[in-house]
Parts: sequence; structure tokens; C-alpha cells
Amino acid sequence: KKIGIALVGLGSYSKNQLAPALQQTQYCRLAGIVTGTSAKASEWMQKYNIPQANVYDYKTFDRIIDNPDIDVVYVVLPNSMHAEYVIRAAQAGKHVICEKPMAITEKDCQAMIDACKKANKQLAVGYRLHYEPFTQEVMRLGQQKVFGPVKFVEASDAFRIGDPTQWRMKKSMAGGGALMDVGIYAIQGARYVTGEEPVSVTAQFSPKTEPQKFKDVEETIFWQFRFPSGAVSNSTSSYTAGVERLYASCEKGWFELSPAFGYGPLKGRTSKGPIEMPTVNHQAAHMDGVCKDLLAGKALPNHITGEEGKRDVRLLQAIYQAAETGRSIKLA
Ligand code: NAD
Repeated sequence: KKIGIALVGLGSYSKNQLAPALQQTQYCRLAGIVTGTSAKASEWMQKYNIPQANVYDYKTFDRIIDNPDIDVVYVVLPNSMHAEYVIRAAQAGKHVICEKPMAITEKDCQAMIDACKKANKQLAVGYRLHYEPFTQEVMRLGQQKVFGPVKFVEASDAFRIGDPTQWRMKKSMAGGGALMDVGIYAIQGARYVTGEEPVSVTAQFSPKTEPQKFKDVEETIFWQFRFPSGAVSNSTSSYTAGVERLYASCEKGWFELSPAFGYGPLKGRTSKGPIEMPTVNHQAAHMDGVCKDLLAGKALPNHITGEEGKRDVRLLQAIYQAAETGRSIKLA
């Protein structure tokens, strides 16, 4: 049997990445949808052969508890809505996958973890890169010190955002600007190539070049982590122009991915030559990885669970605090 997944929120990521990926997955399938737009519901039912019984809106969603076709609820809503829908999914007796960033506060993350624990259900975050071969290779190169200890990391993720009216530009829905949306990949990158947790952070907002457009959230932010080994990282995230790079300088060489965080194909090289890895569909690899473990009744690996999502949200908040106060923030 394949795991039945219901997607909650049929926006761009569900439509363009997750639903197509679910046509290629081995361990899971698109079983249901949750949407507030009835036109989308009929379009998806037809396109993906979804029965009416597996279609919900935000009011009827809790009835999913009675639906044995659906094992996993995948929350793909604006960031501020993740907590409510993850908690309702757990209360409906479903495992949950939640998109990144897991939530906009650490308190919400904890409530989501607690709800899943109470329901005895597993909670995964949409950290697709943990199942992506180029990323797994740089995790190995850094964590196993293949080029000696990592000394410094440059990790940046940014793009030029379009429509200024979208939820990503509203602090109440997104939790912040570029940092919340793509900066989280740079945080993850610095953590997974060092294999360490930062002990302190400093950060700076750049002056806004388009203050009208960026009324509510930051346009560009820079931050620096210090790690227990003495390694340091420097990062940029922005909504005003693009960069997508993860570079690690080690005692005896270096390695990098660029592009490092998008949907691929990713590309990498080291001081010894190119990194050769298979190109996979990130979303299919992620959902299959999670569902394979669910089918086997195994606990999900720590690095994609709610605890990992919460760690990143704590760091996102510490970065904002450092930028706002101009002080170095100590991390527990
Ligand atoms: P989107 O704006 O394209 O879609 C959001 C969906 O939420 C829409 O279907 C919209 O109708 C629905 N929605 C319900 N209530 C809403 C409300 N009150 N306001 C606005 N929209 C509402 O966004 P997206 O790009 O699909 O992002 C959704 C989530 O997925 C975000 O958390 C984002 O960070 C995450 N995401 C992850 C990746 C990844 O690579 N892992 C990529 C893109 C997006």
C-alpha cells in the first residue's frame, strides 16, 4: 500500500512541485486536497482523479479524521497558518509534513510538536534537501572532515521577489522577509556542513533601497554564526537580487554548491574537482524518504523532524534580535 497524502493549500508549491512529484513517488500518492477555492477543487479532482470524498475545505477539514484513505496531511499554507493546521491534522489522527519555516514563533513550534506527540503521530518538516544527493555529499565532506575541519562557511540564499501584495511581504503572515523564506536554507547549510550548532550570532539589516515595497519586512539581511569548533559562517538573504551559494573553506581544501538550495539541478565542486551526483526530483525524494519510514513504522531521522524545525525558528528569531539590537546574541 502507498501512503495517502492530502495537500493543504493548493498554491504555487503544491501545484507546480508537490502534485507533479507525487506522480513519481514510490511510497506515497496524492490522495486528497484541502482548499478554500471550489474552482481549484474541481480542477484538481479531474486532473489527479481525486474522489469527492477526499476533498475538504478549511471548515470541513477536521472530518479528515474519518477518512482511511489519508495517512498524511501535508501543510503548504502561508507560514503563520502552519501551526493551526498541523495541530488540527494531528488531532485528526494523521501524520504531518509541514512546510518550512515550521512556524513563525518557537512557541508555535512547541505546540505543534506537543500535539503530534500527544496524538502519537510523526511530524516532518519540508526539508527536501536532506534527501538530495549533492546536499548529502557536502554534509559528508564537512561533517566527516574530508578536507580537514571546516574553518569558515559562506551560505547565502536570495532572489528578487515579484508581486509586492503577496503574503510573503506581510510580517503577520510570513514572520519576516527574505530570512524567513529563503534565509532558512542558508542557516541549514551552515549547520549541515559544519555538523555543529551555532553558539552566537550577529546580524545587520541593509538600508532599504525600495522602502515602499519593503514597508513591513526586511529587504536584505546579513548574519554571522560562531560555532563551538571555532568555525564561523557569513550569510546574506535578500528579496532584492539573487544569490544561491554554499561554500566551505577547510584546513586542507574547500567545497561548494552553487546553485545550492533551489529545485535543481544542483551543481558542486571541490578543491579536487567536480562533485558528481545523480540529479533527483527533490520533492519526490523527500516525500518518499518520509513515507518509506512511516510505512516501516520507523521514527523519522532527527534532522527532518519538528525538533529540527524548531531549532531553525529559534535561530531565525535570534538573527532578527541581533539585527534589531546590534548586539551579539548568545545561543543556548
Ligand atoms: P502560495 O502563496 O503560492 O500558496 C499559498 C496557498 O495558501 C494558496 O493556495 C492560498 O490560497 C492558500 N491560503 C489559504 N489561506 C490564505 C490566506 N489567508 N492568505 C494567503 N493564502 C492563503 O505560497 P507557496 O509558495 O505555495 O508557499 C506555501 C508554503 O510552502 C510556505 O510556507 C512556503 O515557505 C513553503 N514553500 C516551500 C518550498 C520548498 O522548497 N520547501 C518552496 C516554496 C514554498
